[in-house]
Amino acid sequence: MPARIIKGSEISDQIKQEIKVETQRLKQDCGITPGLVTILVGNNPASVSYVTAKQKTAHELGFYSVQENLPQDISEKGLIDLIDRYNLDQRIHGILVQLPLPKHIDEHKIINTISPDKDVDCFHPLNLGKLLIGGDDVVFKPCTPAGIQELMIRSDINISGAEVVVVGRSNIVGKPLAVMLMQKGKNANATVTVVHTATKDLSSHCKRADILIVAAGVPNLVKPDWVKPGACVIDVGVNRVGERISEKTGKPVPILKGDVDFDAVKDIAGAITPVPGGVGPMTITMLMKNTLLSALMHAKRNP
Ligand code: NAP
Repeated sequence: MPARIIKGSEISDQIKQEIKVETQRLKQDCGITPGLVTILVGNNPASVSYVTAKQKTAHELGFYSVQENLPQDISEKGLIDLIDRYNLDQRIHGILVQLPLPKHIDEHKIINTISPDKDVDCFHPLNLGKLLIGGDDVVFKPCTPAGIQELMIRSDINISGAEVVVVGRSNIVGKPLAVMLMQKGKNANATVTVVHTATKDLSSHCKRADILIVAAGVPNLVKPDWVKPGACVIDVGVNRVGERISEKTGKPVPILKGDVDFDAVKDIAGAITPVPGGVGPMTITMLMKNTLLSALMHAKRNP
């Protein structure tokens, strides 16, 4: 039987609706509008399109949103000064600096400058430390891992006790996701293995997984014989493998492929996310959820 398709776009729309309602309530009850600033340095086309999508979503949800477009040659100090200004701005609850940054700017320094209270990407070491320790101190979760966890919860995938294999150990996906799923607690409590380029016999690890999560950035890496029959397969990969002409606009658009050979693996897996339309839409939605959360925390601190 072909796998159940986990439709990230639909789940993401559902969550956005919930955020919209909560945003209205916060406005009415506390006079607070969640505020997000997105900071873009230079004009890398992929970064421009990510930031545009984030701004569009923030606007749709009724947030106060600001877009800062900075020149490619802005100094590190110039960027730090701008972030410091938003750290103090009471209307802003989330600060997002679109990565990657130009080489003359130290990314770590920039991430460390963002107030941990407004770190809606959850890249700040303080927030990542809290995530590692787990428990009630966790405020933000990094957006892509949070989106993956939420997708599984809302698709009734049983995480507790499951054998989870995560392919990839990046700081934004693989590592935090492994930490989140291994915590002792609700919607976690899994046995997690993280595999990477130095792993021996990658496929045999993958084949053990009840939940296989792939964030490698290698198109079609995972083949059907790597997958346990009935497993849940979450494909995080977004790989541009070419271009096609859009029927709607007549303009070239990228052809996207995941890290999983979807057409073949869907006949083996029990549930699977497509690319596009799986994990992708969840990432922006979780950014909005973190911004709302930050605004709620602000309201609590300033009754
Ligand atoms: P990354 O920083 O390049 O990390 C890739 C990880 O995969 C590394 O740990 C690497 O191992 C491992 N890896 C690469 N090739 C492998 C192979 N052949 N076998 C085993 N492990 C391998 O990438 P990332 O930022 O985590 O992103 C991964 C993918 O997810 C990309 O396609 C990216 O576009 C996508 N992504 C999507 C979203 C979304 O919202 N949908 C968000 C973020 C990322 P080593 O550590 O040994 O090098």
